[in-house]
Amino acid sequence: MARTPELHDDALHRRGLMFILSSPSGAGKTTISRRLLAHDAHIRMSVSVTTRPPRPGEQDGRDYHFTTRPAFAQMVEQDEFLEWAHVFGHSYGTPRAQIRAGLKAGGDFLFDIDWQGTQQLYQKAETDVVRVFLLPPSLDELRRRLTARGTDSDEVIAARMARAQAEISHWDGYDYVVVNDDVDACFRKVVQILAAERLRRARQTGLIGFVRELMRTED
Ligand code: 5GP
Repeated sequence: MARTPELHDDALHRRGLMFILSSPSGAGKTTISRRLLAHDAHIRMSVSVTTRPPRPGEQDGRDYHFTTRPAFAQMVEQDEFLEWAHVFGHSYGTPRAQIRAGLKAGGDFLFDIDWQGTQQLYQKAETDVVRVFLLPPSLDELRRRLTARGTDSDEVIAARMARAQAEISHWDGYDYVVVNDDVDACFRKVVQILAAERLRRARQTGLIGFVRELMRTED
């Protein structure tokens, strides 16, 4: 799909936003995130720091900033994270510096984080955060998506379902909830949410001067 820079090419300065997309696995978050990044030149992925070793194909600086446990602990100590968490035995965190500079310059960031990370970000930066949660269309469809690989045992699938349902229970900690029954329709809704949130008055930091000019009395 064509990118749409014109959405944004207004002369007024705008503060960027932190767009959080969460969902249980199997609800289509990865697909929607990829499409959003490909479609819109003004949003980029927030790249987290992690102590997890890289998986095949992952690139340092693109997928994550890979680091050691002592280096991560030092970053925590020096308060360099906007939020951080232990997930599946590794540490993950959002570096504060890149976000702060990016938002000020009018850049938007996409976050692929769970409900705990979402809560932390919201507590730290409430006015910059937009929280979107994707839901699967039904329990059957969730099970189908989580078993699609066909090689997993019933036990593994049951554990995956339980994890997905635990994540779903946090649906009420989000500003927007989209049921992903059709990926194109879901994507369009997510794009609309982003477009509307960019127009919030408080984010349009260039408005004051602009409106002042509109209100100038002519002699
Ligand atoms: P993975 O190791 O599969 O890339 O990610 C494991 C989990 O860590 C995912 O649920 C992902 O959402 C979460 N995660 C990745 N980066 C961060 C982060 O910066 N903060 C938090 N809280 N969670 C993260």
